[in-house]
Amino acid sequence: MAREIADLVVVGAGTVGGWASYFARRSGAKKVVVLERDLIGQGASSRAAGVVRAQGGTPATVKLGQWSVDFYNRQRDELGTDSGFRELGYIILAVTRRDVGEGLARVAMQREAGLDVRWVDAGEAVRLNPSLAETGHRGGSYVATDGCIDPQRNVRAYSLAMQRTNVDLRERTSFLGLRLSGGRVTGVRTPDSVIATERVLLTGGPTLRAVGKLIGVRIPVGGARHQVVVTEPHEAFQVERLPMVFDIGAGVYWRLEEDGLLWGMSNPQETPGPSREIDWPYLRKMERRLNRLVPATKGLGIRKAWAATIEYTPDHFPILGPAIATDGTELRGTTIASACGHGMMWGPAVAKAAADLALKGRTDLVDVGDFGLGRFDEQGRSPFIDPIALPFPVSPDD
Ligand SMILES: Cc1cc2nc3c(=O)[nH]c(=O)nc-3n(C[C@H](O)[C@H](O)[C@H](O)COP(=O)(O)OP(=O)(O)OC[C@H]3O[C@@H](n4cnc5c(N)ncnc54)[C@H](O)[C@@H]3O)c2cc1C
Repeated sequence: MAREIADLVVVGAGTVGGWASYFARRSGAKKVVVLERDLIGQGASSRAAGVVRAQGGTPATVKLGQWSVDFYNRQRDELGTDSGFRELGYIILAVTRRDVGEGLARVAMQREAGLDVRWVDAGEAVRLNPSLAETGHRGGSYVATDGCIDPQRNVRAYSLAMQRTNVDLRERTSFLGLRLSGGRVTGVRTPDSVIATERVLLTGGPTLRAVGKLIGVRIPVGGARHQVVVTEPHEAFQVERLPMVFDIGAGVYWRLEEDGLLWGMSNPQETPGPSREIDWPYLRKMERRLNRLVPATKGLGIRKAWAATIEYTPDHFPILGPAIATDGTELRGTTIASACGHGMMWGPAVAKAAADLALKGRTDLVDVGDFGLGRFDEQGRSPFIDPIALPFPVSPDD
């Protein structure tokens, strides 16, 4: 068998690995191989709700969101195809007094970070989104340029981008491990061969922890059930534009979808682990909360609903940086990349930063200083926390 050589091997063809391979080619990597043990996009990336927001909880995550929104907006010019980004606006709702205090502080931080965000009172929130109940909330933070993508169209968009830039995609080909010499990557093992390379970019979404195990590295990423529902159509939702809403305390968010409402949730009380079964009691409980905040949904049937496994870290921040072995040494030539539950809103930016790190060892896109594996202690705990993530189980054990 001829010896294969690649400038970069990417593990996983979800939105992070897919876009990273494209960005790597655009940055001059000649031979980029993507290993996908299943089919392209069949992990979390095709099952997402597609919500994209630049309203991050820290300046760095604001940056990741802004970069990704800009990318979605310029895709058609750059690629001739797109991920279906629709600008809808986004209200992150305050229900309690405490939500208001935290929301106002967040808005000040985000404005400082350069985001065009403002606080709207309950009356203005209802004027912006007339399907919202007039009571039961206190307004919220609002960004007009947030929106959503179509997750399946996004898979198609990065598949085409990979094809056009001659990325070598190998479906049904598992990554099995690394070849190392003196602590540096020299190759990648697949069931068919060893690909000689000095650079490996590892993704895996909800299965990233298992990918880490293949190289002897502990990656504290958990997986948890996340559920998405699409209601039947209703005239309140037969409009071009209606801001998306996030009821941050309950972890329920919603947006327009095919003349109905798409809404999603995770249950922070349930035991983490992979799951694709619908938890109807929890879904119905959250539906009642939604009915109170969006009266038009009351009695509205469900057109479709699904459950899938979403990845998360204890602090809800992305992972961007080299693999670190249990003895603390860095596996040189490796880059770990995960948007950790935010692959639609941060995915392109995380992918671009990861491609930069893999090829150049640094990125100008965002300060990745706090995003490395080094932030986690031996129990997988982090000193940080993203204040506006979905509520998730506390422990990343799965
Ligand atoms: C129901 C649901 C709703 C969501 N909604 C949103 C949303 O509204 N907004 C948002 O920002 N995010 C959302 N997310 C999160 C988002 O979907 C993920 O963050 C994102 O898809 C992760 O992308 P990824 O490329 O890291 O992982 P994936 O898409 O899971 O891709 C990882 C790939 O790695 C492959 N792989 C694993 N092990 C190996 C191996 N050994 N060899 C080769 N290949 C391997 C897998 O087969 C998989 O294809 C949602 C997720 C879910 C489940």
